[in-house]
Amino acid sequence: LLQLYQPLNFFGVVYREIKQALTDIESMVKLLSVDREVADRPGAPALAVTGGEVRFEGVEFGYDPRRPILKGVSFTVPAGKTVAIVGPSGAGKSTISRLLFRFYDVSKGRVLIDGQDIRAVTQESLRASLGIVPQDTVLFNDTVYYNIAYGRPGASPAEVERAARLAHIHDFIMALPDGYETTVGERGLKLSGGEKQRVAIARTILKNPGILLFDEATSALDTHTEREIQANLREVSRGRTTLVIAHRLSTVIDADEILVLEAGRVIERGRHGELLARAGAYAALWARQQESSQGPEPVPEVL
Ligand code: ATP
Repeated sequence: LLQLYQPLNFFGVVYREIKQALTDIESMVKLLSVDREVADRPGAPALAVTGGEVRFEGVEFGYDPRRPILKGVSFTVPAGKTVAIVGPSGAGKSTISRLLFRFYDVSKGRVLIDGQDIRAVTQESLRASLGIVPQDTVLFNDTVYYNIAYGRPGASPAEVERAARLAHIHDFIMALPDGYETTVGERGLKLSGGEKQRVAIARTILKNPGILLFDEATSALDTHTEREIQANLREVSRGRTTLVIAHRLSTVIDADEILVLEAGRVIERGRHGELLARAGAYAALWARQQESSQGPEPVPEVL
């Protein structure tokens, strides 16, 4: 029986891996709109992350050279700090995250991590050091255990549990009928937006990347989920270099620096309070968001 079981089990594993690889590619393509490849330089070394400082230096880029999207973008996310990028739709915010992952090469300027040009290191080491927490997480149709453990293949059950505790999702999981073996995703137990995100956060904690990229959902979330997500972001980004791509403005209040991007240029930068006081583009974006959100949100005490 064992002889029969082993090949069957093997095919089960292969099937499962292929299925997951496809789901993974699908969600990555969806998430980051990958449609071109860049090549490693021969003999490129691995990226050595020390503190995790991210620096864009005079970055220019266009998907089509005749249509520039980023027109000289410079900013630094110091190690352990949080920088948020806001701006109108089409300004180039997600393009910045795609360039950080090096799905495209810049046409001018440089992207540096701890002083190393990302074009000079292997893509594998670059992507291993970046953790992405999308705010509209897509989970695999598999167990909640698998969904977390995926962050670091080979992690022990104790490590998976520790990550879940840190993401404040362990108690919730233990209260499910099948605990960590509960199937989630489209064909399993439906989780709320905030719960799904906590699973993704646990996965990212397990991966333990030096740099975090938070990609805010484009669609509106209800106020409760939005608050939960804000709290999640605050916790997971503590002490980690974090870049927030904010399609709305809900997660930027605590950022160490906010960059306002418009038509591929940074037109304002500062903290939430400073930018409101300046009564410029950021203050106008903020006012517009307050008007369009259901019911007035209290504006938090600033600085
Ligand atoms: P939003 O807040 O609406 O998501 P964004 O600021 O993130 O907008 P980007 O996704 O960076 O904007 O897009 C900037 C510009 O680049 C847009 O005009 C878009 O049409 C264009 N663009 C984005 N992805 C591609 C692509 N893969 N190929 C060609 N053009 C693209």
